[in-house]
Amino acid sequence: MNRKKAIIIGSGIGGLALGIRLQSLGFDTTLFEKLDAPGGRAYVRKADGFIFDMGPTVLTVPHFIEELFSLQRDAAALGEPDFPAEIMDPADRIKSGITSGPNTAKYVKIIPILPFYRIYFDDGTYFDYDGDPESTRRQIEAIEPDDLAGYDKFHDAAKAIFDRGFIELGYTYFGDLFSMLKVAPDLVKLDAVRPLFSFVKDCFKSPKLQQVFSFEPLLVGGNPLKVPAIYAMIHFVEKTWGIHFAMGGTGELVNGFVRKFEELGGTIRYDSEVTKIDVEGSLFGKKIAKGITLADGTQHTADLVVSNGDYAHTYSKLIEPQYRLINQDLRVKLTKQSMSILVIYFGFRADGLEDLDLRHHNIILGPRYEALLTEIFDKKVLSKDFSQYLHVPSLTDPSMAPPGHHAAYTLVPVPNNASGIDWDVEGPKLTDKVLTFLEERGYIPELKSRLVYQSHVTPDYFEGTLNSYLGNGFGVEPVLTQSAFFRPHNRSEDISNLYLVGASSQPGGGTPSVMMCAKMTAREVAKNFGISPEVVNGVAPAPSKPAPETAPETAPEVAKV
Ligand SMILES: Cc1cc2nc3c(=O)[nH]c(=O)nc-3n(C[C@H](O)[C@H](O)[C@H](O)COP(=O)(O)OP(=O)(O)OC[C@H]3O[C@@H](n4cnc5c(N)ncnc54)[C@H](O)[C@@H]3O)c2cc1C
Repeated sequence: MNRKKAIIIGSGIGGLALGIRLQSLGFDTTLFEKLDAPGGRAYVRKADGFIFDMGPTVLTVPHFIEELFSLQRDAAALGEPDFPAEIMDPADRIKSGITSGPNTAKYVKIIPILPFYRIYFDDGTYFDYDGDPESTRRQIEAIEPDDLAGYDKFHDAAKAIFDRGFIELGYTYFGDLFSMLKVAPDLVKLDAVRPLFSFVKDCFKSPKLQQVFSFEPLLVGGNPLKVPAIYAMIHFVEKTWGIHFAMGGTGELVNGFVRKFEELGGTIRYDSEVTKIDVEGSLFGKKIAKGITLADGTQHTADLVVSNGDYAHTYSKLIEPQYRLINQDLRVKLTKQSMSILVIYFGFRADGLEDLDLRHHNIILGPRYEALLTEIFDKKVLSKDFSQYLHVPSLTDPSMAPPGHHAAYTLVPVPNNASGIDWDVEGPKLTDKVLTFLEERGYIPELKSRLVYQSHVTPDYFEGTLNSYLGNGFGVEPVLTQSAFFRPHNRSEDISNLYLVGASSQPGGGTPSVMMCAKMTAREVAKNFGISPEVVNGVAPAPSKPAPETAPETAPEVAKV
């Protein structure tokens, strides 16, 4: 077989997922990664016996992971149904502890987490969100009985959006305007295009419940006041398949993907920053990517090039302007970037904290919601108050910290670097403020005297280390005008064999979305390289899957923390 050569720039989850898929389609794939290890945003920081996932911690849709671990070399397996019947079973999957599947189990152990999130309000009360309708209703009733009817309304509307927007259309690649116009009337009918927060406000009177049912897009860089209501589907994605954790941390999932990619014959080169995508052609004629140039000056050729890097970085830093008719510098500059984050990684002594009243995932909301979001996303100023997401994985997996300690990170949304904030000055100050808050409010008593490890990253890390324009934390901002056809295209409009994969392209950010993106990009590659259309359109005969070497777990494990 004459194997064509593919190059992927970056080893984020999207890059790795596409690498696995391209190996399965019959390409010889090399991943060039700037950093010394894989994962991108999911890079792992190890220090003093602690393991810190630097980025994603909430895993949803374990089926997407299982699908990747099921792929075989040269099997061209893009024809599987995207949502096979067996994962759509309406039985209560959360309580039954759905695990990720036999092929995943060979690489990484993934377990469900309950509750999904504990959401603390500023007055110290909280809401445990766990996807169980009865417990959800009980907690709504305790906060605002009148909102029970609103929950029914929200639930039904979110379900309709999930069915159409995720199950039926989730994998649609909007490469031309017509494909988008075809589905737009449906989305308007479902009320999925107006801002999520206004949609939620129509259902709930209580400001607390308005926050509970709208905060989720923040986890993928979206402003709940601005993202279209199609994002209400996140609620249903979580409810349907649960929230999961990779034992040992998300880094173990990344390691599993690397292993799988290498087993399929792929190659990864670390410490290999790409400085140029080498293109041939002219502005108005056909343009072809011939390969890439690395920072050390070496050149590598390929039949196709994919960037898993940031959209703005890819076009404005790696491709010379004479090859970009559509994605010119002005367009790149006008594209709105998501907000950024300050993330504090810390380890602390746990003696005497046996009754620590925290869960694995804690959302700690500040005193203001709408005003705070406006300051972060629009005014781009550093607010005096903050909300945060506090992650304590050692509550589920003690191996994340040395004995007698906990490993944690807390993530604070902040403006991206369009703000001009000097993070060398403000980063340490905000870090101190946040840790003091966690101690004084009693979330972690005597935290500061218990700390044995502490470090933080600011938007400068996203800009300088991860090459993300303006230090965006989550890629191109998910707003209506940057969704579907209007989001950067997975197949470049400028260069015929250049592709994008990852949070900036379609369908968007978050680990499940970038895995979907990898499949969508792989389908475009398969189409353009003449690989069987049946395979691409999802109607091929089911590919043969290897018999599981590891038996599925019989007694499902659910971490309740
Ligand atoms: C703190 C944080 C928490 C998050 N939490 C969650 C969560 O709980 N659940 C969830 O689903 N999502 C979460 N997300 C979002 C999720 O992590 C991302 O959407 C996803 O991981 C992005 O993957 P990606 O494939 O787009 O690539 P990225 O992770 O952005 O990786 C891109 C890679 O490209 C490399 N690169 C860039 N330029 C070059 C170059 N010129 N040459 C070579 N290499 C280059 C970079 O070094 C990097 O490794 C979180 C994000 C952050 C930052």
